[in-house]
Amino acid sequence: MNMNNDSDQFDVAIIGGGIVGLAHAWRAATRGNRVLLLERTQVAEGASVRNFGMVWPVGQPAGELYEIALQSRDLWLQLGDQGVTQVEACGSLHLAHHQDELEVLNEFCQQQSHQVRMVTPAEISKQSPLANPSGLLGGMFSPTELRVDPRTASHSIANWLAERHNVQLCFNSSVTSVADGQVTTADGRQWGVDRVIICSGSDLQTLYPDDFASSGLKLCKLQMLRTGPQPGIDEKTPHIASGLTLRHYTSFESCHSQPSLRERIARDSPLLDHYGIHVMASVFPGGEVVLGDSHEYGENISPFDKTEIDDLILCELRKVIQLESWAIEQRWHGVYAKHATLPVFEKQIEPHVHLFVGTGGAGMTMSFGLAEQAWQKWESLNQ
Ligand SMILES: Cc1cc2nc3c(=O)[nH]c(=O)nc-3n(C[C@H](O)[C@H](O)[C@H](O)COP(=O)(O)OP(=O)(O)OC[C@H]3O[C@@H](n4cnc5c(N)ncnc54)[C@H](O)[C@@H]3O)c2cc1C
Repeated sequence: MNMNNDSDQFDVAIIGGGIVGLAHAWRAATRGNRVLLLERTQVAEGASVRNFGMVWPVGQPAGELYEIALQSRDLWLQLGDQGVTQVEACGSLHLAHHQDELEVLNEFCQQQSHQVRMVTPAEISKQSPLANPSGLLGGMFSPTELRVDPRTASHSIANWLAERHNVQLCFNSSVTSVADGQVTTADGRQWGVDRVIICSGSDLQTLYPDDFASSGLKLCKLQMLRTGPQPGIDEKTPHIASGLTLRHYTSFESCHSQPSLRERIARDSPLLDHYGIHVMASVFPGGEVVLGDSHEYGENISPFDKTEIDDLILCELRKVIQLESWAIEQRWHGVYAKHATLPVFEKQIEPHVHLFVGTGGAGMTMSFGLAEQAWQKWESLNQ
């Protein structure tokens, strides 16, 4: 076991090198803290590298959560401006191929709670070569969504934090205990720390399992697919969501017209509800299109992916987007932790040990803003 010396003492230890841990490391370091970031794997390979790379404020309900998402968006743009990672302000299109979808979108725009506007099929075709014009009734454009590259962003941000903010990175370091101001890894190394933030993603077992067991967090598995490069499509192409998405994000729950859309889908396509399928498409920097997704929870999660789910996703996507080639080059799944009502599960375990886990399907969208809010709160409490 390593003995402590001065260089083993940090103000803050972050456990987990996914986007939530990186967000905390960044916000802590900008406040002058000496930060240690511990990550179990060689490079982050959890939900933060497996997602669409959509920064998606439009999915957050009006009010505080939308504001936090916009604050996160600004922080992503700062990273883009500083050349840390590529950030594209591509915006998003919600497409309506059913009358009830158009009604929800119209009602949502009329609420004027988000920076959105209705667009005609002709405008959509101009904005996106991806949108399928067949049966398209109209849609909604939102300028606030960003595209980031999830496969490289975590790695680039971690390296930048080390170089620019002197964050000490410790990869291949699985933390097995946090106690008495000390963080210990599986190989016996130890560091003294004043504050610990546990950002362990979908790992609810290793540290403080009893607190996680009573947290209300659930695991959720998502299946994803990726095509090869598509000619004429680049990272400026807005993200696309279909009418199915209008029953997925809480932002649309404010619409009185939403329940009848939900009822139609439950009645006509019960398997989509069973597997929690809504469909979206996002373009990677090489012109590959990322497609998804499904949502299976808790005991329904299997290590093995279901071809039935992939087929359903592709069938729904063919109705709303058009591709030169539908050949699928990659398939994978990701798992995140999610709380039924909270944007993140935050718990103070001991005076300076915090759990910060469960950003659900919005971690790329919310983490920077949520971490900034947490640090502002801790500062104001002088904690
Ligand atoms: C398929 C998919 C698509 C998604 N699409 C989007 C999207 O487009 N937009 C969006 O906003 N959100 C999206 N999300 C959600 C988003 O990806 C997650 O909310 C977010 O990545 C969670 O980040 P995290 O840091 O908590 O978890 P993770 O990225 O899983 O990171 C947790 C890290 O902690 C490490 N760790 C755990 N325990 C220990 C320990 N004891 N010691 C050391 N290290 C430890 C793990 O190795 C892991 O690297 C998607 C998620 C998935 C799965």
